[in-house]
Amino acid sequence: MTSDDPAFIDCVVAGAGVVGLAIARALALAGREVLVLESTGLVGSETSARNSEVIHAGIYYPAGTLKARLCVAGRDALYAYCAERTIPHRKCGKLIVATTEAETAKLAAIDTHARACGVTTLQPLTGTEARALEPALNAVAALLSPATGIIDSHALMLALRGDLEDAGGMIAFNAPILSGEIVPDGIVLRVGGAEPMSLRCRSFVNAAGHGAVPIARAIAGIPAQAIPPAYFCKGSYFTLAGRAPFTRLIYPVPEQAGLGVHLTLDLAGQARFGPDTEWIEAMNYDVNPARGEVFYDAIRRYWPALPDGVLTPAYAGIRPKITPPGSPAADFRIDGPDEHGVAGLVQLFGIESPGLTASLAIGDLVAEKLAATA
Ligand SMILES: Cc1cc2nc3c(=O)[nH]c(=O)nc-3n(C[C@H](O)[C@H](O)[C@H](O)COP(=O)(O)OP(=O)(O)OC[C@H]3O[C@@H](n4cnc5c(N)ncnc54)[C@H](O)[C@@H]3O)c2cc1C
Repeated sequence: MTSDDPAFIDCVVAGAGVVGLAIARALALAGREVLVLESTGLVGSETSARNSEVIHAGIYYPAGTLKARLCVAGRDALYAYCAERTIPHRKCGKLIVATTEAETAKLAAIDTHARACGVTTLQPLTGTEARALEPALNAVAALLSPATGIIDSHALMLALRGDLEDAGGMIAFNAPILSGEIVPDGIVLRVGGAEPMSLRCRSFVNAAGHGAVPIARAIAGIPAQAIPPAYFCKGSYFTLAGRAPFTRLIYPVPEQAGLGVHLTLDLAGQARFGPDTEWIEAMNYDVNPARGEVFYDAIRRYWPALPDGVLTPAYAGIRPKITPPGSPAADFRIDGPDEHGVAGLVQLFGIESPGLTASLAIGDLVAEKLAATA
């Protein structure tokens, strides 16, 4: 080695969101040397800090997809991990609500579909039964999902970081990956920040969320056809002033790009509504207060007594889409050497919902993909 040779690290993971942390933890627990490179100064400050914090049951995704499989496996792993590590969470359940007779047929289809995905716990309810659980609800019929819950996602990420560091892994903050190249004995990465450097690694996991497509494009030697296009679908949230008269999460029947304007609760009981869907050209987390007007109408379909003037713009998250507006939602892309032909490389694209729920299962899958080719 000469003084110009880049430093060598066994595994580098791009991104310290919940998915990058879960992958880094899984690799470190498998005995690998792991360094996470994070462009900001914090863990989980992008999409992992801007979501509904719901542990999804795994109801909606097409059967056999990674989303369906990893949501169910990840959900069970996450509940077990929360119990083991005392991470604040609550299996509060959710109601999917039909507010017209026409939507009732959609509920039956959701139940049939969920069973095909291995979710056999949904309970069909009449409108009267649903109102017995949640008296403020307007419902012609509903499905109760007892396996759905809520989680303190930041406590989860702290636990993942703790496990990673206990196993010898490290996170470098303010360390954006700028470019790189595939070389015969690994992957060289050029890292910016206050102390720019080059690193060579045997395995590289690109789990940078919205940064994943730009990183892939900036690494020479990754085939262009292995990189999907990137689209941004913003979801804005509004919080409710005062307490909501609900103890479960309330969802309308889903729409094409998202799950509809639903009501979720945080662990302190604060209700928030959203996310809606708004396709945008560039990243921008501003919440337009005018969108609240549409929220009132959407929410009053299932909660007619929502008072005027009680919704406050809260925050927005942006779904990292890999298919354009109007297309069916794509599956997660978790591409290893079998998919793109580059040894030691795993790339994750389109890790929108249920990425938080699936994070531990994604970590295990990536560790397996790299072990198979190590
Ligand atoms: C509106 C919304 C609601 C959602 N609700 C839920 C939900 O209720 N339940 C659920 O299961 N899932 C939900 N999700 C999905 C979930 O939030 C994501 O799947 C998950 O947070 C993705 O984590 P990540 O680590 O892949 O990405 P991120 O959290 O975005 O992390 C990527 C990290 O990479 C870093 N990075 C970017 N570029 C670079 C670079 N060049 N070099 C180094 N680092 C870089 C970023 O700074 C960031 O920290 C929701 C998503 C959205 C958008």
